[in-house]
Amino acid sequence: STRQSAISAAINYRQSSPALDFANSSPEGVFGSMVFGKSQMKKRLPKAIFKSLMKTMEAGEKLDPTVADVVAMAMKDWAIEKGATHYTHVFYPLTGGTAEKHDSFMSPTDDGGTLASFSGKELIQGEPDGSSFPSGGIRQTHEARGYTIWDVTSPAYILENPNGTTLAIPTCFVSWTGEALDKKTPVLRSMQALDAQAHRILKLFGHDTKAFVASTAGPEQEYFLVDKGFFYARPDLVNAGRTLFGAAPPKGQEFDDHYFGAIPERVLAFMFEVERELFKLGVPVKTRHNEVAPGQFELAPIFETANVATDHQQLIMLVLKKVAKKYDMECLTHEKPFAGVNGSGKHVNWSLGSSEHGNLLDPGDTPHENAQFLVFCAAVIRAVYKHQGLLRAVVASAGNDHRLGANEAPPAILSIFLGDQLQDVFEQIKGGGAKSSLPKGNLEVGVDTLPPLDKDAGDRNRTSPFAFTGNRFEFRAVGSNFSIAGPLVAMNTIIAQSLDYCASQLESATGGDEGKLHGAVQSLLSDIMSECGDIIFNGNGYSEEWHAEAEKRGLKNLKTTADALPELLTDEVKKLFSTYEVLSERELESRYETYCEQYCMTVNVESNLTKQIARKMIFPAAIRYQNELATTCTNLKALGYEFDTNTLDKMTGLVKSLQDAIATLAEATKEGCEEVNHCCTDVLPAMLEVRKYADQLEAVVADDLWPLPTYQEMLFIK
Ligand code: ADP
Ligand code: MG
Repeated sequence: STRQSAISAAINYRQSSPALDFANSSPEGVFGSMVFGKSQMKKRLPKAIFKSLMKTMEAGEKLDPTVADVVAMAMKDWAIEKGATHYTHVFYPLTGGTAEKHDSFMSPTDDGGTLASFSGKELIQGEPDGSSFPSGGIRQTHEARGYTIWDVTSPAYILENPNGTTLAIPTCFVSWTGEALDKKTPVLRSMQALDAQAHRILKLFGHDTKAFVASTAGPEQEYFLVDKGFFYARPDLVNAGRTLFGAAPPKGQEFDDHYFGAIPERVLAFMFEVERELFKLGVPVKTRHNEVAPGQFELAPIFETANVATDHQQLIMLVLKKVAKKYDMECLTHEKPFAGVNGSGKHVNWSLGSSEHGNLLDPGDTPHENAQFLVFCAAVIRAVYKHQGLLRAVVASAGNDHRLGANEAPPAILSIFLGDQLQDVFEQIKGGGAKSSLPKGNLEVGVDTLPPLDKDAGDRNRTSPFAFTGNRFEFRAVGSNFSIAGPLVAMNTIIAQSLDYCASQLESATGGDEGKLHGAVQSLLSDIMSECGDIIFNGNGYSEEWHAEAEKRGLKNLKTTADALPELLTDEVKKLFSTYEVLSERELESRYETYCEQYCMTVNVESNLTKQIARKMIFPAAIRYQNELATTCTNLKALGYEFDTNTLDKMTGLVKSLQDAIATLAEATKEGCEEVNHCCTDVLPAMLEVRKYADQLEAVVADDLWPLPTYQEMLFIK
């Protein structure tokens, strides 16, 4: 059977690709070698053009269109030296994936020949057809034009393939009316909004400089690896990215022996190559280790500005999947590929800062610096409190629903973990600014110095969805399959709004008198703590007590995507995004439509797969075994022997229940899966019911008759 041959193929795996040679091509040597980055630009562009481009890339100034032709020429020459024959505008549609349309550099000449050419116009703007990408109603087919616009802030790079290479140019994807059709455009807009508001705060603290304050992101990617043979023997993994069936293995993750354990040889070989590929693309990968579940791993790059980190994060997912195949494995980025063991998240570490101001979430050394840090920190607290619903909505998906609120992931309730020390500081501030008398009394902003904050990883609370980790916040509810764009757009914009509020309060309280600043900060922070302090929770986010306590505090507990997505359309959220010109109402509504549709399509595919696998694989295996038992029983009885029909009875009962459950699911889906609530409350539970009986059958049916690779095989054979 397919399953048996998959087992022997996995056991007999030998690496077929040649070993990597790090001695002769060092990581420093390859880093960024496939990127048209700053050093290439400097080398290849006239000084004035280079300077003008840097102003756009680093200070967020408008692009001077006259530079485009020169840049395009240099980019093309560089790419052709690297063997490129084609270029592609890479864009990020609302599906959360990466899209490309390739064009050749070759153009015909008058004399019947051909010439490599690439104009500034082709660099700046492309027109992929792309009419089948979701637009949530923004783009009707009769006006199906969508444009890709060069994103100057994210460097172009080379996509390698054994048979040729392509120049890839990161772009924004917009409709002909200028509305965003992608994940990238609002990231850039939200960064502008954050920069503007952060500067107002900095100005109050005497830093009236121009340097662009960018949000920074360091996303940690969790994933599973499964042997290729097992993957292709499971239609659910192939088509839904997760197992829809599978009994719990005898051994799961209870020993925690996988977590940070020695990395299996084959996996390590894979990781070396992943990192090397990403290094070439200028992605600063740093960390790798085993995760909690067997077969689960993590990769983390060093943080970068939010827009570049977003593009790099998409590349990370692509490279993981591509390289896994070379090692006869499949990389699963689904949030919950296997029931009963941990799911995969993508922890997004977030901060803001600039080359001139440093990291603004790093507490300083002086009371004055501490005061500024506390304002930025309080702005985050206020933002998360005010927009719990939005933050929950931007991590909502059919896949992440299996993770959020389950026992190993952050709960669906948003709360902030500050750590004991910082929480204590905020409590003291809330208590009122009595004269400096640390460590026992209350902290007076601008007079007392913060105690050095603990950055030790061991001290961290891993159950919190939004945690302060010494010099940044970590949003842990993001799913492993997500583009980080949505979460970043939300974080940047809500924090911009809070900074706006803080700046306005401080500006009016001080009236330009610097001497009044610290007093004004003290009362601002104290007010924010009184209004929004309920969002802070340092305890165990998985516990039942927290759920009860959170309800008492009036915090939102949006358990499913069906509960969470409507949060995108509340008046506050509409106002938020339109005020800071990140998303218009129409753009927001189109996103809501698209995410609802994605959810329904996912559930639809999964329900089709459930029916198909149950009918065509599990039911046949079950009746074969049932028949064997029945035949044995008849034969033995004919010979005058006794036969214990216990197993046969059990089988017969389970087969009947399976058939009934399939019929119920068929009934629940007979009119399709077009409505989010219907999918959530009728279809998904009906699928689980089918699974319940199938998994019980797996525990009874003879092993050689069972068609699907088991959890034991998929998780432990590598
Ligand atoms: P842990 O697993 O303990 O949370 P990791 O080292 O796996 O830590 O990941 C931490 C991530 O946070 C890295 O990507 C790191 O670069 C990132 N990070 C560190 N400082 C910042 C910052 N100022 N802004 C954004 N991300 C940051
Ligand atoms: Mg982390």
